Amino acid sequence: MAFKIYSTLSKRKEDFEPLEPGKVRLYNCGPTVYSRVHIGNLRSFIFADVLRRWLQHEGFQVNQVMNITDVGHLVNDADEGEDKLEAQARREGKDPWKISQEITATFFDDLARLNFMPANVYPRATEHIPEMLEIIDGLIDKGYAYRAGDNVYFEVAKFERYGRLSGNRVEDLDAGARIEVIAEKRSPADFALWKSDPQHLMKWDSQFGADGFPGWHIECSAMARKHLGDKIDIHTGGEDNVFPHHECEIAQTEAFTGEPFATYWMHAKFLQVDGGKMGKSLGNVYNLDDIVERGFEPRVLRYTLMRGHYRQPLNFTWDIMAESQKALEKLDDLVTRLRRIAAGDEGATEDGAGAELLETARGEFVEAMNDDLNTPQALAALFTLRDHAVQNRLGRETAGAGLSFLERVELALGVLDLEEESIDSEIQTLIDEREAARQAKDWARSDEIRDTLLERGILLEDKDGKTVWRRK
Ligand code: AMP
Ligand code: ZN
Repeated sequence: MAFKIYSTLSKRKEDFEPLEPGKVRLYNCGPTVYSRVHIGNLRSFIFADVLRRWLQHEGFQVNQVMNITDVGHLVNDADEGEDKLEAQARREGKDPWKISQEITATFFDDLARLNFMPANVYPRATEHIPEMLEIIDGLIDKGYAYRAGDNVYFEVAKFERYGRLSGNRVEDLDAGARIEVIAEKRSPADFALWKSDPQHLMKWDSQFGADGFPGWHIECSAMARKHLGDKIDIHTGGEDNVFPHHECEIAQTEAFTGEPFATYWMHAKFLQVDGGKMGKSLGNVYNLDDIVERGFEPRVLRYTLMRGHYRQPLNFTWDIMAESQKALEKLDDLVTRLRRIAAGDEGATEDGAGAELLETARGEFVEAMNDDLNTPQALAALFTLRDHAVQNRLGRETAGAGLSFLERVELALGVLDLEEESIDSEIQTLIDEREAARQAKDWARSDEIRDTLLERGILLEDKDGKTVWRRK
């Protein structure tokens, strides 16, 4: 069964076919590190993580790159206005380099707490200035870019396919719809590749005159090229990245290399909070610490961000978080039940029908994930499986196979709690075996089990006819 993904470029679902068999080159637009990532950013990143996990689940070797934008992203996403990092530095009276360092550290911390699979590389824009200058030079040589004073712009009229991703037409952009008019540009739709600004705090020497800094879009073109090559398989971001960011990345990279850049472009829809946009003035720009302060484990947020399909609207409320917590409790319960059934403590005696039910759940899960990462439907298959466990429809062997299935699910979703419990149930199985040995007066076996556990740091105590265990 093919993995189908919806590409913003073709505007339809396509069968995923990698450039190189068995391998995937994946680029995710990462955070601009001027302030702590919020739950909206996290929606885009969790979507990217699930995508990476699913590709891995399907046997691909994934090379995943998520960048850190630490310079050049201006407040209005276009060519005028302050650099987000420098504006923040001014507000806090701090050094922008220090801010980027601190925010990047909290970002990695958030990723770990939310059980992200680490990307292969997290390149920082400020560490790729020579790579950007090389592309800019090439674009000038090829006639796609021009210098105006000490600045360099990409001339969109020269790149025929400009607008294909976002559906924006250059004529409309020229009317100045969403972009400011800068006199030195040949057309208002042209965008900056390099801006000279000796006042900028984060600035570099270049062949273009006074010290300056790169445009936001060229950063991702350069980092993707450096770490993945001229052509990549999948490029992701949030829906606001479609234009101008990704449209401009395509123009730069393809004009430079003469080849298609990414085969598939995937975009997560914006997360809303309480039915509307997040806003500082509304006090609802939540981050992971806010979630934990309200008494929720990080994985409850992870679950909440996966319970909607990434291309569907998703609304965050505290009530939905409470629902997610209940849903996770049910999934934990599924794990516990399967373990008990697998240990022979409960469950159906006949396993034929149970095996079929498990097979159906597994098929539904895989089919949903292959259908453009339909996580809500995939999760539904797990709840159906839990119903079967509750209704005593699964037998011992099926439960064992069910647990292996959940290990695979965990590889794909990263939201289950299999870890601690699995030790518990293993220990319990040994304790039960020891109890049986004692009943049978097989003291040698009973002692042997006690010693095995002791070697693993587990101490058994017989109290009131019951055996309990604790760590040494
Ligand atoms: P930024 O830090 O602004 O560069 O954004 C980092 C990523 O988060 C980008 O891919 C954005 O598209 C994405 N993003 C920002 N806000 C939201 C939101 N409310 N929902 C989903 N994704 C978002
Ligand atoms: Zn980017």
